[in-house]
Amino acid sequence: MVHHVGDSNCINIAIDGPAGAGKSTVARKVAEQIGYVYIDTGSMYRAVTLIAQRAGVTADQTAKLAELVRSLELELEPGEQGQSVFVNGENVTALIRTREVTLQVSHFAANETVREVLGIMQRKLAERKGVVMDGRDIGSHVLPNAELKIFLTASVKERALRRYREVTDSQTVSLAQLEAEIAERDRLDEQRDISPLICASDAVVLDSTAMTIDEVIYAIVKLSRTKMAEAK
Ligand code: C5P
Repeated sequence: MVHHVGDSNCINIAIDGPAGAGKSTVARKVAEQIGYVYIDTGSMYRAVTLIAQRAGVTADQTAKLAELVRSLELELEPGEQGQSVFVNGENVTALIRTREVTLQVSHFAANETVREVLGIMQRKLAERKGVVMDGRDIGSHVLPNAELKIFLTASVKERALRRYREVTDSQTVSLAQLEAEIAERDRLDEQRDISPLICASDAVVLDSTAMTIDEVIYAIVKLSRTKMAEAK
């Protein structure tokens, strides 16, 4: 993993929130503007899901899943077009974005060992600071000491609409179906026992329903600069 050489005033930024709130686009652009490394933790849960599906391991096969995640060699590589994901040397960046993975990922993400192993990797990636990490439990669980925590949200309707516009695969999905799938993923992520999706008490809540992506990026960069100055 290429890493930004952390300087003394580097901070960590956690961006959490429900599916489709714009976290990945926003986190990537914020990182680009302030010269930090962007880490998409959802991609790690997606990679585990893909490999489990290929191996025929289901989310309720706890022991098999634990073995699979422990033996996984997962690598994230930041790049101009976003982050690339490699599993055991294979580039799975596009493969982890299929609906098949999206519909199943929350079930795999509820597994204790999966969360433990990926959580350790995530903390290691943030060790030297200078990261913008997006996920569901980053501010609340993975990096509780992150200097800046953002909880980015938007109405389910707006999030479904954004996804609908972005669906480029040949599979045809109706807006209503996307909305139901997003609501279901939120429900699973919010209700799981281990590190569920919650807003950390010290997070800044940004509701992007009526905001443009650029407005959200601007707001977070501004908050980052304040926190960086405080960290000096
Ligand atoms: O962010 P993205 O939608 O790609 O995340 C896919 C799924 O991975 C989420 O719905 C959630 O179930 C899981 N996830 C998680 N904790 C994170 C990041 C993602 O449980 N920190």
